[in-house]
Amino acid sequence: RLVDAISQPMMIEGRELEMQASVGIAIVDSFDHSAASLIRDADVAMYVAKDSGRAGYVVFDDSMSARASERLGLIADLRKAVERGQISLNYQSIISLESGRVNGLEALLRWDHPTRGWVSPARFIELAEETGQIQTLGAWVFNTALDEMTRLDASLGGDHEIHIAINVSMRQLEQANFAEFVAQALERTGFAAERVMIEITETALMRDPETMLRQLQLLKRLGVTIAIDDFGTGYSSLSYLAHLPIDIVKIDRSFVEGIGQSQRDTRIANMIMRIGDSLELDTVAEGVESYDQLAALQHIGCAMAQGFLFG
Ligand code: C2E
Ligand code: CA
Ligand code: CA
Repeated sequence: RLVDAISQPMMIEGRELEMQASVGIAIVDSFDHSAASLIRDADVAMYVAKDSGRAGYVVFDDSMSARASERLGLIADLRKAVERGQISLNYQSIISLESGRVNGLEALLRWDHPTRGWVSPARFIELAEETGQIQTLGAWVFNTALDEMTRLDASLGGDHEIHIAINVSMRQLEQANFAEFVAQALERTGFAAERVMIEITETALMRDPETMLRQLQLLKRLGVTIAIDDFGTGYSSLSYLAHLPIDIVKIDRSFVEGIGQSQRDTRIANMIMRIGDSLELDTVAEGVESYDQLAALQHIGCAMAQGFLFG
């Protein structure tokens, strides 16, 4: 009844708005439940409901428990990870296929957990997004990347134009003052905006087109470069893409995998390249692991590449 009641459209300032709710239900079936554990179970069930992607409710059952305690453990640990120095950045080089030189570096988060060992960002970015910790973490990434680049510049003597690619989550872009934050970080470090590339996944760009367009325009005004990440995995329409102030398309690793071997994959990669060309965007191929892939990418005219082959 609550889910139904909440989903009723409301008129606010002449606009019809709809809300959705996800509900987790936990039932006390014995007296060894504390209030805190009951709420925790309900919380777990709520996340299962959310994961199903639609408004609705889920009743907690014990099979959700293991997943829940792992989740809660990671969330608690993540909260302290930055201050305990367990988080760092790795840099993967982005190579210009024309000159063969390093064109840029992509900053990738690493979490060295004291008992779990290396925890993949694929696992904890999602948690950080759900719990709002992505704001702190994302700000740390941005500031640290610029600081480390400034140090790199000092040691290389400034005679290069290597850019830094930073992954930004949709949750960060949802903050109205994100561009302001970027401007401050640039000002603090004196790092040239032209050498900063912000990577946003295609899926994130699709989620809330209006907000994204507004944010990208603000960022472009600062002079930073925008790349669309994991391209080919979302379902963005070409007309939408053409309207976005994007500079670079990153071809998702799944399309690079079979390139040079499977004709089909080669054709798909080629097609993505042509889309990039017609929108006047540069293309970066991700996840290049072999010389065969490299040769095929050079053959279809891809501008840049990154992956274990170079790393
Ligand atoms: P991504 O942005 O697509 O990053 C590329 C991923 O592919 C990285 O995984 C990288 O280590 C991996 N990779 C690079 N070259 C190769 C290759 O040749 N072969 C294979 N098999 N893999 C390769 P990683 O570091 O585990 O990151 C996973 C994802 O987590 C990233 O995907 C990105 O979406 C996210 N992520 C990483 N750092 C950040 C961050 O600072 N902020 C945000 N919001 N997301 C981040
Ligand atoms: Ca990326
Ligand atoms: Ca990617």
